[in-house]
Amino acid sequence: MKMVSACLLGIRCAWDGKDRYKNEKVIELLRKETLIPVCPEQLGGLATPREFQEIEKGSGDDVLDGKSRVKNKIGQDVTRQFIRGAKEALEIAKQYNIKEFIAKSRSPSCSCSSIYDGSFSKRLIKGDGVTVALFKRNGIKVISENDI
Ligand code: SF4
Repeated sequence: MKMVSACLLGIRCAWDGKDRYKNEKVIELLRKETLIPVCPEQLGGLATPREFQEIEKGSGDDVLDGKSRVKNKIGQDVTRQFIRGAKEALEIAKQYNIKEFIAKSRSPSCSCSSIYDGSFSKRLIKGDGVTVALFKRNGIKVISENDI
């Protein structure tokens, strides 16, 4: 049993109100084993649809350490919701004894190893999303949807 970013399984929880049900490898995996869908941003209390969000000058680890914030495109600070969502997702992972998370790429919550730089100009930098950073700190292996 693995946990997976809910949008990859067809849940319409992405910022634009759509899903990201297009990765054939994830869909194939769902046919073979039980996948638990979670959307940390919804779990954190954010609405769907919502404004596009990026981590400001830093990574998910920096957000967890209080060194960076998450803001949306109209300048609202959504750090509190991101941290809350990460903690709620971790709680679900613990309840199901999840050891692996399949992560949507390019998300300030779910992305593994590569995130946008906070300038809202589609520039990528190294770093994890907030939930992925918290999962890794708690011993959960994270696999990007691109590396399945
Ligand atoms: Fe998908 Fe994760 Fe973003 Fe939710 S927070 S829409 S699961 S990438």
